[in-house]
Amino acid sequence: MNSLNGTSVPSLYDASADFSSLSWLEQQWVAWYIYMGNPVLATGLMSFLMHEIVYFGRSIPWIIIDAIPYFRRWKLQANKIPTAQEQWECTKQVLFSHFMVELPVIWLFHPMAELFGMRTYEVPLPSLREMAPQVALFFVFEDIFHYFAHQALHYGPLYKHIHKIHHKYSAPFGLAAEYAHPAEVAILGTGTIAGPLLYCYFTRDLHIFTMYVWITLRLFQAIDAHSGYDFPWSLQHIVPFWSGAEHHDFHHMAFTNNFSTSFRWCDRIFGTDDKYRAYRKRLDAAKKAMKNSTKAQRDEMEQKLMAEVEAEGVRAEAEVERGMQKTKVQ
Ligand SMILES: [Zn+2]
Ligand SMILES: [Zn+2]
Repeated sequence: MNSLNGTSVPSLYDASADFSSLSWLEQQWVAWYIYMGNPVLATGLMSFLMHEIVYFGRSIPWIIIDAIPYFRRWKLQANKIPTAQEQWECTKQVLFSHFMVELPVIWLFHPMAELFGMRTYEVPLPSLREMAPQVALFFVFEDIFHYFAHQALHYGPLYKHIHKIHHKYSAPFGLAAEYAHPAEVAILGTGTIAGPLLYCYFTRDLHIFTMYVWITLRLFQAIDAHSGYDFPWSLQHIVPFWSGAEHHDFHHMAFTNNFSTSFRWCDRIFGTDDKYRAYRKRLDAAKKAMKNSTKAQRDEMEQKLMAEVEAEGVRAEAEVERGMQKTKVQ
């Protein structure tokens, strides 16, 4: 059989290919490439749409959660709920970045993927067993890349001109995950796409579908880490080396420590979680000591501790920016 849904198969697929044995998803995959007729366009458009749908699709539940007071009990910085105005401003900036940076990159992605030997229109799609170790590797690669690149972005001139935008919110929310300078989106995005490209270059064995699975999980990770909520069922309570919102929220609140994305390893190994751990220790000890106090009293104590950490962060941020001025004078 060389047709699918009555459409004749162009040269992309072998004329003798039998599509009847494919799964439903694989049939849709083939149908999309046949319908588009141009693999560069087909991959580019699918990648862009996938990114937009996952990004905003995952952010919407957090917008709803922010609007429901019941969930405040699990909000990390309970006194800072993003306003509708803030969320809208953030959405506009994110969309600007998506169209100005991500769209061109995504457009160039198909030729780049082919150059590295990545499968795109080909079927069958990889199995879960095939994808799992590859995705795990991309998570580790991205985490290490991000750890160093993020620290570099905290260096005076880079901070002042690029990363400062992402630190606008000391209490982040889901939509703010990609609220950043276009240059930052490009720099940190490299950690997400370089892993698969390198893997592909060395093994010549990667399907773009695996990359979609990876990017979807990575977007979930980034958006959830910025959500500002730490639920008892959050992944970090089940997988202790997972960073989660609790870890990254501190980075935004304190301006320092916790530079990695998915895992806690890098910050632990290089000691860039000292202030974070000291804060947790103080908070836990204070909570224990106030076991018999009212919830309002405990909340007040927590707010006070957070305010101290945040004030210290404001001072540290000013210092980083002053450091830049000093280097300029010299
Ligand atoms: Zn930062
Ligand atoms: Zn962030």
